Amino acid sequence: MKILVLGGAGYIGSHTVYRLIEQGHQAVVFDNLETGYEKAVHKDAKFYKGDLRNKADIDKVLDQEKDIDAVIHFAANSLVGESMVKPLKYYDNNIYGTKVLLESLVSHGIKNIVFSSTAATYGEPVNTPILESDPTVPTNCYGETKRAMERMFYWTEKAHGIKYVSLRYFNACGAHIDGNIGEAHNPESHLIPIILQVANGTRDHISIFGTDYDTKDGTCIRDYIHVTDLAQAHILAVEYLLNGGESDIFNLGNGVGFSVKEVIETARKVTGKEIKVVEESRRAGDPAVLIASSEKAKRVLNWKPQYDDLSTIIKTAWKWHSTHKNGYM
Ligand code: UDP
Repeated sequence: MKILVLGGAGYIGSHTVYRLIEQGHQAVVFDNLETGYEKAVHKDAKFYKGDLRNKADIDKVLDQEKDIDAVIHFAANSLVGESMVKPLKYYDNNIYGTKVLLESLVSHGIKNIVFSSTAATYGEPVNTPILESDPTVPTNCYGETKRAMERMFYWTEKAHGIKYVSLRYFNACGAHIDGNIGEAHNPESHLIPIILQVANGTRDHISIFGTDYDTKDGTCIRDYIHVTDLAQAHILAVEYLLNGGESDIFNLGNGVGFSVKEVIETARKVTGKEIKVVEESRRAGDPAVLIASSEKAKRVLNWKPQYDDLSTIIKTAWKWHSTHKNGYM
């Protein structure tokens, strides 16, 4: 297959490009490098620097790369906290960017797309584990823009026949097993990279945001899913669409929840480092428990996560963080 990966220099995008190439597919990467890194792009992928909000940028790629089988779309802003203080940035990049992309796909006759959605589309869950059919009432602007993207694809399919798969990730984490690419946000806000930055000596402590949640140890519970397992799900979703599958939405998680304190404890065991902790008050917008049911992805896409053990996941992340203290810098 020849796949155009939008946002292929970012965290999940770069791992998907590696996976595609490792499995003998061709990857074309499009990224504005606002949050991605050119160094994260696989050397065998063709790279175009461009911004989805400039229609000429994406039109140029689709004019030149004539035999694209499908698009995988990661190009978005994805920080909950930032989305609450800069909502219009999220509407601009995630929604306007996707609208421009869809116009270009329509005019170039491209009919299959897989894109990143998020557990944040659900808001405060009504069930544990969360099912795809559960209500979507986002409690932050990031989740709202991702839900709006899903609806944009829904209506565009009806008018223009572009089929889509939306993948709602839970907590993406870990790094490529070789340790050459990994998670590098600037500034970093995610739990596991911050813990491992304490372990590698580039940060003093990890702050626990809230110890008074209604959970077993008072800290938030999340479903941590390895980035390579997410990458594989995108490839399976493309194959599903190319084999005639209907547009659909799938959760991607391990179906097991770990508290913030459990993640820190596991990281202490994996790294052998003390990892200083400071307990702080809750972070706005954090639901207490988010756990996915991924039965549908397993059943329909034949998805089989390989890294379902937290200690193994953190080991892969540590391989990256212990050898790349400054990320890609
Ligand atoms: N968290 C924390 N300290 C940090 C970063 C995150 O206690 O420095 C908590 C956060 O409140 C949440 C969990 O760790 O309960 C996972 O947060 P992350 O930002 O990694 O992912 P999110 O769940 O927001 O997608």
